Amino acid sequence: MKRLADELESKKTDYLYRKRVVREGQQDPIIFIDGKKAISFCGNNYLGLANHPAVIQTFIDGANKYGVGSGSSNLISGYTSAQKILEEELANKLNSERVLVFNSGYFANIGTILSLTKKSSLVLADKLNHASLVDACKYSEAKFIRYQHGDLKHLSHYLRSNQSLEKLIVSDTVFSMDGDIVDIESLVNLSKKFSTPLMLDDAHGFGIFGPNGLGIAEKYKVEVQMATFGKALGTFGAFIAGSETLIEHLIQTARTYIYTTAMPPAIAEATRTSLKLLDSESWRREKLMELVAYFKKGANALDLPVINSDTPIQPLIVGSADKVVQLSSMLLDNGIHIAAIRPPSVPEGTSRLRITITASHETEHIDYLFDVFSTLRKAKIFKKILYK
Ligand code: PLP
Repeated sequence: MKRLADELESKKTDYLYRKRVVREGQQDPIIFIDGKKAISFCGNNYLGLANHPAVIQTFIDGANKYGVGSGSSNLISGYTSAQKILEEELANKLNSERVLVFNSGYFANIGTILSLTKKSSLVLADKLNHASLVDACKYSEAKFIRYQHGDLKHLSHYLRSNQSLEKLIVSDTVFSMDGDIVDIESLVNLSKKFSTPLMLDDAHGFGIFGPNGLGIAEKYKVEVQMATFGKALGTFGAFIAGSETLIEHLIQTARTYIYTTAMPPAIAEATRTSLKLLDSESWRREKLMELVAYFKKGANALDLPVINSDTPIQPLIVGSADKVVQLSSMLLDNGIHIAAIRPPSVPEGTSRLRITITASHETEHIDYLFDVFSTLRKAKIFKKILYK
């Protein structure tokens, strides 16, 4: 226990100690954080669906119909007609043979990668993939190589030099901490050229991108597509879409699917409503992208060091952990909530404010954020940080 106490202490000294803040109320742009009123710019409720009256109502109706918990694992008695219909509707929408619903994106990634790989396999993964994919590859017995972020030449080098091995390529579509989008066309072509299955994590693309909001991979057929319900869809859980054989294999072998209580049916019902809203309220995607463009234009005019991204994730690189913690805390004092993102979530020296825009924001909220940045710039410690 002494070692744990020492480790906690050194996290504090290095500004890497993480503290949970308590949010009250719905995920509106205006929230209460530890009792302080603030405009939030760090949630993933990209389309504002978590508070949508129809989503809430189907959740309530689902709880009335099925009870709150599912009561058992999927292979015992926790799988209800709610999850079944969600899987069928989603497969139909995605034009995919089959879909399997998991309790979270973390579980979906871990269970799928462990199920698909064996000791003799090789997993090739983008260096900036989400932690859940990194963990899955680490837990797997397979050989695991991380190619340089977005560097498909680097990836093809490994594909070429390991032709005899059974391989899997794994990548985020929208990188969760940088907001950039994978070169999907080239990646799909490479996977075909080397006959290597591709697994895409579309957690931050699903609901937002693609002609019908079905994600970065909407126009492409990839072997394994994963996306979450907890972000743009505003509910909870995740899915894997793919072939009949893939899904049946996961049902038989994915331990994070088998050995856990099934998703609450009411969540599945609410998610079905969110999926319908992708079609009937497509204005949310349009508004979101207009706000992203508005933010980018303003950030550029202010010369803020924001990474170039065309997604709702707009990271402002600060550098050191201590500075980002101070900046985040001063923002909160000025009525803005943006969490400080530090290692190990991002590489050393690239601590950042991961600013996210949602369809629930208005231009006035973004203007206020810019006003606060302009004020904070006058503080000596931020002068250098808040300019490119
Ligand atoms: N993949 C990515 C890219 C993510 O950003 C997240 C975030 O949480 C996950 C997977 C995990 O999904 P979940 O929160 O549903 O576990």
